[in-house]
Amino acid sequence: MAFTKDIVERAWALSKGQCQCERSFHDHDGRCPNELVWEDRGNHDKPTGWQDHSKSSAYRGLSDCEILCLKCFDSIW
Ligand SMILES: [Zn+2]
Ligand SMILES: [Zn+2]
Repeated sequence: MAFTKDIVERAWALSKGQCQCERSFHDHDGRCPNELVWEDRGNHDKPTGWQDHSKSSAYRGLSDCEILCLKCFDSIW
């Protein structure tokens, strides 16, 4: 499953190009400061790479869609 392009675009707009991760067990305090670039979606070769993530794992829509830098995305669990 995946989010629709429309949902990802809207989630991206809300993120303002910054990782939305606030996981307390990561090594950032509060929200992750990593800035992302739209064109670098899924690009592990760039620090500005990112991926969309379903908080519920059920892809329930915009409020369930989180924009994460790949460093956070790779250490969600
Ligand atoms: Zn992050
Ligand atoms: Zn994080």
